[in-house]
Amino acid sequence: MSDKLSRRAFLKGSILSVGSVAASASVVSAASALAPSPQDPLVTVIDISKCIGCEDCVYACKESNASKFPFPQKPFPRMFPDRVPIEDWSNRQEVTDRLTPYNWLYIQHATAIVDGEEVELTIPRRCMHCNNPPCVKLCPWGAAKQETNGLSRIDADICLGGSKCNKVCPWDVPQRQTGVGLYLDILPNFAGNGVMYKCDRCFQKIEKGETPACIEACPEDVQTIGLRSKMVALAKARAQEMNGYLYGLDENGGTNTIYISPVPFDTLDLETGKGKPHMDVVPDQMAQGSRLARAMLIAPIAGIAAAFGKYYSRVKEDR
Ligand code: SF4
Ligand code: SF4
Ligand code: SF4
Repeated sequence: MSDKLSRRAFLKGSILSVGSVAASASVVSAASALAPSPQDPLVTVIDISKCIGCEDCVYACKESNASKFPFPQKPFPRMFPDRVPIEDWSNRQEVTDRLTPYNWLYIQHATAIVDGEEVELTIPRRCMHCNNPPCVKLCPWGAAKQETNGLSRIDADICLGGSKCNKVCPWDVPQRQTGVGLYLDILPNFAGNGVMYKCDRCFQKIEKGETPACIEACPEDVQTIGLRSKMVALAKARAQEMNGYLYGLDENGGTNTIYISPVPFDTLDLETGKGKPHMDVVPDQMAQGSRLARAMLIAPIAGIAAAFGKYYSRVKEDR
């Protein structure tokens, strides 16, 4: 037998052991998405022991969000000085092995050693939707925002592509496309050179009481969405049943995405790099007195800039 255990063989025990909890999960998903609030936001639990790496979720995300993807104008305006690099994904829209402006969810590959055997795992990765998101709090233009249900998103009508959200995101999630957005009209040679893109948690579907596309498409029920009050309990119960581990509950002060793994996260040999987020321990970036919390003092400027951006977008639409 190969020294690489079949994922299914290794995980079979885990899946069976959590079966009773999983059965109730879909019910939680449908019923509890109805009344999220800042105190009890929407949380997604992702059980990586169940993921088979089929990428159905990835293509469902692409299809469902295609209308939000960038249509850049070319040639790109030249920047003076050339301080901001061109980032053009428009000719590589088919890429699915990392996060891009056209791929907001990807399947990360990892291996772990269990009882001397190498096990392969696949992990859906996207924005963690932090409880206190630095990308939202530190966007100088107010283009990134957090809804009352806890999801965070970037308003493509306001974003100037300065990439601050990427720099302050502990997982480097938002990705830039050059040649699109407001900067072309107001500061074509000096602004951030595009728009930043990331998972918006299918906010329009959620507003209509529907389930995010990636969750709906998954044949293995890897993800469960519901109110934090229920999802945290669900994640802990599943982890306990499989003697597993949680990631996201405390990272960056807590996120609205909780991963469950049958092996410790710090033993995962993850494929990381640009557009491929890590799973390291992350301290609270916005903790009182931290460098980023002090930087938040510019927030009033962001409010004015956001109002301007919204006004300008409307004027442009009316033309
Ligand atoms: S993971 Fe990054 S992009 Fe997502 S909410 Fe947190 S800081 Fe923002
Ligand atoms: S929640 Fe929506 S936008 Fe986010 S990864 Fe899933 S399908 Fe994509
Ligand atoms: S659709 Fe489900 S099983 Fe397939 S890769 Fe995505 S999370 Fe994993």
